Amino acid sequence: MSDYLIEEKFDPQSRFDNMDDVEPEFWKHKKLEEMNKREWELLCDGCGKCCLNKLEIRKQIKFTNACCRFLDTNTCLCKIYEHRFKKVSDCRDITLDAIREQPQWLPKTCTYWLLDNGYELPSWHPLITKRASSVHEAGMSLKNRPVISESEVDDYENYIVDWQDL
Ligand code: SF4
Ligand code: SF4
Repeated sequence: MSDYLIEEKFDPQSRFDNMDDVEPEFWKHKKLEEMNKREWELLCDGCGKCCLNKLEIRKQIKFTNACCRFLDTNTCLCKIYEHRFKKVSDCRDITLDAIREQPQWLPKTCTYWLLDNGYELPSWHPLITKRASSVHEAGMSLKNRPVISESEVDDYENYIVDWQDL
């Protein structure tokens, strides 16, 4: 039960308040493999959609609206970000290999996949707006969606969703 009580204080806006340490619009002229850790982390839009549970049915990945028990559904951020791989065995690291070899496990809007496939950042991305909340205001995150915690789910097949941005 103590696993459910871990919570790290983190202000989502703090990622975008001071970006003097990164090149302006680095995402336009750097490939993903050329980015440093700070740039890589900045790419994440904070949508939380990769933290939805998925099912593989007849070789097709189906998203559910059941999220990882460690997702804060208000901020759409992981409550245990620094410890996530220790605490959750199937938490997927967003690596180049993961993006290229198993893109079906990511939502269509995932910034990493978009950039790796030649698309531009969407206008609502926090790197464009400089506001962490713009992903929520654009309705592109899990905030205000009918999401439930996996801890309340017994049969994931009852929770399959077909949202357009997944
Ligand atoms: S889907 Fe991609 S952009 Fe959205 S939270 Fe996950 S890693 Fe970040
Ligand atoms: S542990 Fe992994 S899947 Fe769970 S909320 Fe954190 S990042 Fe998402």
